[in-house]
Amino acid sequence: MYDIVIIGAGITGTMLARELSRYDLKLALIDKENDIADGATMANSAIVHTGYDPEPGTMKARMNPEGCRLYEQLCKELGCKYTVVGALVAACGADEERHLDILAARADDRGIPYKMLDGKAAHEAEPNLSDEVTKALDFYTTAVIYPWEVAIACAEVAVTNGAELYLNSPCTAIERTDGGYIVRTPERALETRLVVNAAGVYAENIARMVADNVRFRITPRRGEYYVLDNAVQPVKHIVFPVPSKEKGKGVLAVPTVYGNTLIGPSSDVVEDLADNGTSTEGLDYVTKNIRRLVKNVPLNRSIRTFAGLRPSADVHDFVIEEQPGAEGFVNACCIESPGLASAPAIARYIINELISKRLTLKEKQGAVLTRERPAVMEELSPEERSELIKKEPSYGRIICRCEQISEGEIVACIRRTCGARTVKGVKKRVRPGMGRCQGGFCEPRVVEILARELNCAPTEIVLDSAKSNILESENR
Ligand SMILES: Cc1cc2nc3c(=O)[nH]c(=O)nc-3n(C[C@H](O)[C@H](O)[C@H](O)COP(=O)(O)OP(=O)(O)OC[C@H]3O[C@@H](n4cnc5c(N)ncnc54)[C@H](O)[C@@H]3O)c2cc1C
Repeated sequence: MYDIVIIGAGITGTMLARELSRYDLKLALIDKENDIADGATMANSAIVHTGYDPEPGTMKARMNPEGCRLYEQLCKELGCKYTVVGALVAACGADEERHLDILAARADDRGIPYKMLDGKAAHEAEPNLSDEVTKALDFYTTAVIYPWEVAIACAEVAVTNGAELYLNSPCTAIERTDGGYIVRTPERALETRLVVNAAGVYAENIARMVADNVRFRITPRRGEYYVLDNAVQPVKHIVFPVPSKEKGKGVLAVPTVYGNTLIGPSSDVVEDLADNGTSTEGLDYVTKNIRRLVKNVPLNRSIRTFAGLRPSADVHDFVIEEQPGAEGFVNACCIESPGLASAPAIARYIINELISKRLTLKEKQGAVLTRERPAVMEELSPEERSELIKKEPSYGRIICRCEQISEGEIVACIRRTCGARTVKGVKKRVRPGMGRCQGGFCEPRVVEILARELNCAPTEIVLDSAKSNILESENR
């Protein structure tokens, strides 16, 4: 019998699993996909928002500033990237400038640092701002992360502390029992006292497995992006438009932790919960809107486009509560932006306000909540590199020339706890294929290494989801 089964290994589920793994609990984390962080956590703007934007009185306003305050230390503990780039909310004209005052007042209330910049100061800070920008709020502590890196690190810590991770395990039904629930997947029946529903855009479907009175309706909103080559860096800061109720945070330019710039997202309601393809219309919308704020955006240097689905709902707020009438079934649902930034606070809230009312939480002897950063050749000094190559020569063989990733790094990411099993899994963890050629040169080598490490035929290696095999058959 489990104490808790968490459904969904995105940032919400993994962050919670890590926090819970400090306690003496029997814990399972399940996901329908073949890797951690394949939902919204894989496709977003990657910003640790400081928390000036959410409407007062909402769960978002409660979780976001606290989550943000916890992030830097958390990333240190997990050996993850946390890069402060600062964020400018840029106003064009008097109407939008008035909105900056509202945001500044919220920031004051929430203890969030900022500077108000007049037009001249804003253009000095960010020379590529368009001439339409007349004033800007500078949230200079805003950081970007690699969201899936954090989720994978959290899962790794949880599993090291004894949590069980089941991938390729869609929850297909939930039954109530006298002592709790049975969470069914095609291969397992997980009997548990409590369930946490952190299933992203699918969370409404999961909640309906235990109740008819679900108080939210999720309708995903798709956000599409361009990714620019890291040789061109049109902005130093994240550049936001003034947010609005209709368009949310709008179309941004975001410098990422590895120097690529994201341009996006769009915001379109979609019916299909899996519809994360890009479209000409969505990308045209992005192009049109970014030009209002930033001039000279080199979209001809785009190396990729992608889209993510926001688990947006009619309640316009996070729903983090026990499902009425279903004792011990906790919803962590409708976690749209700023869900990434809020995740550390959401995990603590679920434990302190919901789980601790149902279970006695006793610290587990020997639980370790930290993780050492895996060796990244690019981050080492020449002496450290030579030392590593002497010990393990595969660190001297470069597989991904664009991003300078060695065979040693790829092998290590496959062998780790919660290691990569797919080409995308390797790309997520150590980045071969993230560069200009998008895997054109290194992908066959990655397939080879995966097959060797996993002791299977190259034809069995998948790109991404189940059945996305790359090679049909061997040609001898
Ligand atoms: C375009 C876009 C931009 C964003 N930008 C930001 C930003 O800059 N900053 C920020 O703070 N937030 C941002 N967000 C929001 C943020 O990405 C999400 O709030 C966060 O990733 C949600 O995490 P999650 O774990 O709740 O959901 P997800 O990451 O979607 O994880 C849910 C998991 O549940 C699994 N699952 C679903 N159904 C089942 C089932 N039946 N059985 C088992 N598993 C199941 C899925 O496979 C998935 O892995 C953005 C979102 C989008 C889409």
